[in-house]
Amino acid sequence: MGNVICICMNDANHIFIAADNRDGLRCPICEGFIKRVGCVVEGGLPTYDELRKRNKPALGLTPRFIWLEERLNQIEKATNRYFDNKEYIPIEWIEEYNLIVNELNNASGDL
Ligand SMILES: [Zn+2]
Repeated sequence: MGNVICICMNDANHIFIAADNRDGLRCPICEGFIKRVGCVVEGGLPTYDELRKRNKPALGLTPRFIWLEERLNQIEKATNRYFDNKEYIPIEWIEEYNLIVNELNNASGDL
């Protein structure tokens, strides 16, 4: 058990650390859903409780990787439906899928 980095799915600036066994956490700033993205090695990020005490800034942007992962899911489901129906699968779907996979793979080290 330890602390993990948590990112708000509404705004990538809503980032904090919390114990990995702390279930049901929502963003302390906007109450959005959070995604746990990794273990904390060093300090530097506010804890859930620290962030909750701060003033509420305006809501920003959903992290790009959240949208990309959701788009990948949509392409996969649509492709499977066409596949099951033996319909022509638009090549644009496959090209977009590959572009997103590349972007996510190249960005994974930046998180
Ligand atoms: Zn938030």
